[in-house]
Amino acid sequence: MHPENHPTRPEPRGVGSEELSVGASVWLPLDRLQGVIDALRADGMRVVGPQVAEGAVVYRDLERTSDLPLGWIDEQDGGRYRLTQQAEAGVFDHVVGPHSLKNFLFPSRDTIGRFLREDGTWKQLEDLPPEPPLAVLGVRACDLAGLAIQDRVFLGGEAVDPHYRRRRESLFLVAVNCRRAAATCFCHSTGCGPAVTGGFDLALTEFSGRFLCDIGSLRGAEMLAKAAAGSPLDRCTADEVQRARQQSAALEQAMHARREVPGEPRPRSMEMEGLRDLLFNNLEHARWDDVASRCLSCTNCTLVCPTCFCASVTEVADLSGDHVERERHWASCFTLDHARMHGESVRSSTASRYRQWLTHKLAGWIDQFGTSGCTGCGRCITWCPVGIDLTEEVAAIRDAPPPQEATP
Ligand code: SF4
Ligand code: SF4
Repeated sequence: MHPENHPTRPEPRGVGSEELSVGASVWLPLDRLQGVIDALRADGMRVVGPQVAEGAVVYRDLERTSDLPLGWIDEQDGGRYRLTQQAEAGVFDHVVGPHSLKNFLFPSRDTIGRFLREDGTWKQLEDLPPEPPLAVLGVRACDLAGLAIQDRVFLGGEAVDPHYRRRRESLFLVAVNCRRAAATCFCHSTGCGPAVTGGFDLALTEFSGRFLCDIGSLRGAEMLAKAAAGSPLDRCTADEVQRARQQSAALEQAMHARREVPGEPRPRSMEMEGLRDLLFNNLEHARWDDVASRCLSCTNCTLVCPTCFCASVTEVADLSGDHVERERHWASCFTLDHARMHGESVRSSTASRYRQWLTHKLAGWIDQFGTSGCTGCGRCITWCPVGIDLTEEVAAIRDAPPPQEATP
């Protein structure tokens, strides 16, 4: 369990709403977090946050802090996810569940166009279903990294995705610094966590029923000011801010050191150095067949991955044939159809499809987008029904002797 910190109660040092500014840190007790949720909702935003549902911690619409998963932790391992209650666990001591920001910005099924035939001519209708702006509470460092990666994919090139952009521009993020890591987490290897370092409106560090709240944007300051109206919040001292940073640093050190801690779950880590070349130089490695003998090609890993972005588009007509909806839905490189060209799939074996996924994620992505496609969130390990673990697969390729030169 995380090392619990008990900062001494601060002297009265309330800050009025006019003093809240970017870079400031204030104390936010749980009941004042409710004020932030209320302020966001009053501003017309849909607020979602982590909640226990369907046997996991998932994002759901959130109205009350009492719906947050206070006292729950998740135990994760290859192909395994269990929720347990712990008396000393806080509101955010679970880690990541199957949902990520991808579910909202790039939903699994999305209407992206509507068309009407009138007088024999098709015209595109502009009235896509209206959506309120979204606020997400409880976002972890790895998922902010995943968001930055998807931003490059959907917004960074010549072709900007208007549906992603519409949601992204109004997105409000309340991040959380993790106090514990699951056995499947390896964000310390990818450099994506566990500390939140930017890209948020507000960021929370939990301490015994209250939160040190860092203000990361003007919108964050505005929302906090609304929540603080009429009842000032306590400003954090430099020592208290330092203690919050140390809490994250201690977790990161523990993640690096877990290998030597007896009784801890088997640690994950991934050597990132030279990974691109390692994979591209081992396209014929025997490990691809080995993993294919276990892989079900079920697509789970791509569905839960916060950065996978492949999609297919279908058009559905009504019975009259005059109204057509264009729908985008998630696709996966683990399906035969994904690589169908000229009537045949060019990746007919599971080995070739797993290789495509892993080499794109960890190598090709670097050439395409200037970043690895992996944040170290561990979801693909947890939600793989047979527990295939990309950190193990990469290590097996790294540890194997280099391929023999072919004899002429
Ligand atoms: S590849 Fe796996 S560990 Fe990496 S970001 Fe995707 S789901 Fe997370
Ligand atoms: S690696 Fe696991 S989750 Fe991914 S397709 Fe294969 S069996 Fe499914």
